[in-house]
Amino acid sequence: IVRTRFAPSPTGYLHLGGARTALFSWAYARHHQGVFVLRIEDTDLERSTPEAVQAILDGMAWLDMRPDEGPFYQMQRMDRYREVIAKMLAEGTAYYCYSSPEEIEAMREKARAAGLKPRYDGTWRPEPGKTLPPVPAGRKPVVRFKNPLDGATSWNDMIKGPISFDNSELDDLIIARPDGTPTYNFCVVVDDWDMRITHVLRGDDHVNNTPRQINILRALGADLPQYGHVPMILGPDGEKLSKRHGAVNLLEYDKQGYLPEAMINYLARLGWSHGNDELFTREQLVEWFDTRNLTKSPAQWDPKKLNWVNAHYIKQRADADLAELVAPRIRERGGDPGAVDLPAVMGLLKDRAETLNQLAEGALLFCGPHQPAAPELLAQHLDDQARTLLSEFRAEAAGLSAWTTDSLDALIKDVLARHDAKMPKLGIPLRLVVTGRKQTPAIGAVLALLGRDTVLARLAAYQA
Ligand code: GLU
Repeated sequence: IVRTRFAPSPTGYLHLGGARTALFSWAYARHHQGVFVLRIEDTDLERSTPEAVQAILDGMAWLDMRPDEGPFYQMQRMDRYREVIAKMLAEGTAYYCYSSPEEIEAMREKARAAGLKPRYDGTWRPEPGKTLPPVPAGRKPVVRFKNPLDGATSWNDMIKGPISFDNSELDDLIIARPDGTPTYNFCVVVDDWDMRITHVLRGDDHVNNTPRQINILRALGADLPQYGHVPMILGPDGEKLSKRHGAVNLLEYDKQGYLPEAMINYLARLGWSHGNDELFTREQLVEWFDTRNLTKSPAQWDPKKLNWVNAHYIKQRADADLAELVAPRIRERGGDPGAVDLPAVMGLLKDRAETLNQLAEGALLFCGPHQPAAPELLAQHLDDQARTLLSEFRAEAAGLSAWTTDSLDALIKDVLARHDAKMPKLGIPLRLVVTGRKQTPAIGAVLALLGRDTVLARLAAYQA
């Protein structure tokens, strides 16, 4: 059975790269009817915060990527790490190292001077027939992993293909600090082992950790997972995606009015493809997802495409759904979503909207505070003929038997035809007087949704 995990460090918000890695791990597990584990790597006490943990949980809930197991917290597994360290010390796959920080620095300096990579010189590494130095009094040791000295550590990366590191390049990694606390790479290994992870998909900033982790897993006699390292996301300018390129916090996209299904679709396409398909549901993603279609080269963030994808999913949503999603955003903007037939407004606006926030802005026309047009703008568009057209429209609109888009469109046409005038002659003054804006969606529909009382009151206020 396939078991994948998402293992974020809760040191800030959940960023887009992390969300995408989570999505790939989730989709891989779902595709294989496997298990998706969430593990919070919170051992960095200085940088980990409860808010960041919450942001991870919220982000995953927003995208509806539910873990089958977890969240597990590394800080709650300390006893287990200590137990494994004790076992390794007993088995001789790890050893105490009493070198002081000054001594370590001197070793590094020596290696550098010899033109070698700075490294630990193995002073405390036990070997058959070797006598270790006397233990310095009162000094607390670190625990080091006894890494193989020669040969290579290789794996066939699910994304990057064969990767190999010479063991001579890998130091004897510190797995426990002088106070006994386990270090990062070691916790990851114990967790992947205990959680029986079969496939590790993670950012390629972890490639250098993988041979170290593999060697420790081997020393523990554990089965190795398969590893896949996902290339990073680049900004539109080809630089590493960062705040300079806009929001990189996943939840910020919720705030800005992106739909979760759009985000999933868009994130999945960043570094993964299924033929030429640009739009797919989460079910299709799960059905199609395969690591073979993950790309080796970095993907590029494209805000225009994200907007296009979001616009697509907005159109797919029922008007009533949109109304429910947009109502709080209207309230935030000082509008009253109850003041209008909101689903009908959504129906009118949704073909042109790229975000829910745009829908909310657009809806304010119908249920926000009325902002009359600037007098200069009115003066510019209200010549004598426009005034005549407006007052005829007002008089006849009052008597319409049905207040509908069709009847209002017909009335506008009538009035224009009578004066041999073109649409903008009445359309623009009507918009300005009734909505305060020069541009609105189709005027008949706008008037219909605003309702007879509002429209007539605003026309009257202007003409009074
Ligand atoms: N905690 C690591 C990170 O947030 C991920 C570790 C892993 O996936 O192995 O970058």
